[in-house]
Amino acid sequence: MAVIIKTPEELAIMREAGRINAMALQAMREAVRPGISTKELDRIAADVLHKHNAKAAFLGYPPGSPFPFPATVTASINDELVHGIPSEDRILQEGDIISLDCGAIFKGFVGDSAFTMGVGTISDEAQRLLEVTEAALYHGIDLARAGAETSDISRAVQAYVEERGYSVVREYTGHGVGRSMHEDPQVPNWWPSPRHRARGWRSVRLEPGITFALEPMVNAGRPTTRVLDDHWTVVTVDGSLCAHFEHTIAITPEGPPLILTAL
Ligand code: MG
Ligand code: MG
Repeated sequence: MAVIIKTPEELAIMREAGRINAMALQAMREAVRPGISTKELDRIAADVLHKHNAKAAFLGYPPGSPFPFPATVTASINDELVHGIPSEDRILQEGDIISLDCGAIFKGFVGDSAFTMGVGTISDEAQRLLEVTEAALYHGIDLARAGAETSDISRAVQAYVEERGYSVVREYTGHGVGRSMHEDPQVPNWWPSPRHRARGWRSVRLEPGITFALEPMVNAGRPTTRVLDDHWTVVTVDGSLCAHFEHTIAITPEGPPLILTAL
């Protein structure tokens, strides 16, 4: 698959898609509190997308799957890393951390973004995990410039995280975003050994108009994850806390990228 370069007109639409997505995330951020269900957060995001004539990118994804994702957002609590299914029965508790991920489709283009936050007062360990994961995202974003390689970003995110005593998840990666939620290039949060690279990993030289989601997934313990019987929820194998932050960005001719999913 080739990397698709977006025109300025397409980038303008992607910025709109990203802004709408950011509004949905912001509305959930303001609603997070002990006692609220993850299904209620999902409804809040769905309302924002609807109000702005955007569609939910995750709902029914992937097409043709026997287990398409059944909601607008993924809501993942504590040792759940990503892809948690919103439910009336999942009630946030004081001290939890929750990752909320949302995708919006507007005028045919996708915005994809996520954040993790505490519910009420959280432990110092949880707070540090959130800070390091978010900082790893911005560290990677700052390196996403024309002329750089995606592998430069992958290595830098991995080093940033591991130097602080955490691990990066291997199984899920950042990805190109455009008319499709997942396109080239793949942007992992680590850079594999030459043996792995021989199995299809490739680094892409960035140029203006390339758009992708960068999304560090960081575990407080071991990097391994597994998928629950619901076919979606990804948890850490060792039960450790984990965090996830994501923005969709566009490479610019000079300087740092444009964050398409900013408010
Ligand atoms: Mg996402
Ligand atoms: Mg993504």
